[in-house]
Amino acid sequence: MAIYGGIEAGGTKFICAVGSNPADLHAIERIPTTTPAETIARTIAYFRRVSATEPLAAIGIASFGPVDPDPASPTFGYITSTPKPGWANVNLAGEISAGLKLPVAFDTDVNGAALAECRWGAAQGLDTFIYLTIGTGFGGGGLANGTPMHGLLHPEMGHIRIPHNWEEDPFPGTCPFHGDCLEGLAAGPAIEQRWGQRGETLPADHPAWDLEAHYLSLGLMNHILMLSPQRIILGGGVMAQSQLFPAVRQKVVEQLNGYISVPEILTDIDHYIVPPALGNRAGVLGAIALAQTTFG
Ligand code: ZN
Repeated sequence: MAIYGGIEAGGTKFICAVGSNPADLHAIERIPTTTPAETIARTIAYFRRVSATEPLAAIGIASFGPVDPDPASPTFGYITSTPKPGWANVNLAGEISAGLKLPVAFDTDVNGAALAECRWGAAQGLDTFIYLTIGTGFGGGGLANGTPMHGLLHPEMGHIRIPHNWEEDPFPGTCPFHGDCLEGLAAGPAIEQRWGQRGETLPADHPAWDLEAHYLSLGLMNHILMLSPQRIILGGGVMAQSQLFPAVRQKVVEQLNGYISVPEILTDIDHYIVPPALGNRAGVLGAIALAQTTFG
């Protein structure tokens, strides 16, 4: 079986590994995301080292974004308009491919994770579902009719507008582009700035979590109505607060108010809004799945 290299390119670290499936994922290495030149050089050095004993068929990259995932575009494989200093307009896939002389498959981190969850995890047997990650940012991707969602670029499911009651929550939001979009109100930095401490230090009964579940349920309601996903997978550091799952499920049912009358939502919501089955390996496995899908 062909062995692939996978890169989950995140804003704080690049997780690199080689393998072909969850039972065969090895040589995992975490490289801090510093400057593009340093991070890409260390990533290339890692794959040169591991491929000396184990030849790789191709590399998959599941990247933070926004990115250009269109193979026909002159800027395919670029990280495009990210606010992360130094990383806008970086030819990530091109530099990795040139450095390793290997073909590179490239997509968003969330489309990659969705592909891995479809193949090996919480979305097996489904062809239209979404994967949201709520952490340092708020990303969303998924599959539509079995294919990763693309279009003009790719969906940006965290930057939608949701109702914001300024009297109950005067926090203006953190998004540098939109202020109080869903990411601006509900990603990790919003929790930290609103309450003055990091989310993981807040107790499970803190009012932060009821407000968080409220915002997430409003976002999910829009995604359910717009995309009709067969399941919603919620990952990322914020969702490590497991008390959010029952709260979000209950609020989604309340918000929809019986309008989407299907058993998945009315009687089986516990299996409709779920954590990733692949846990924090979904990203790097997604990168490998991208390479397999493209070159396998
Ligand atoms: Zn935004």
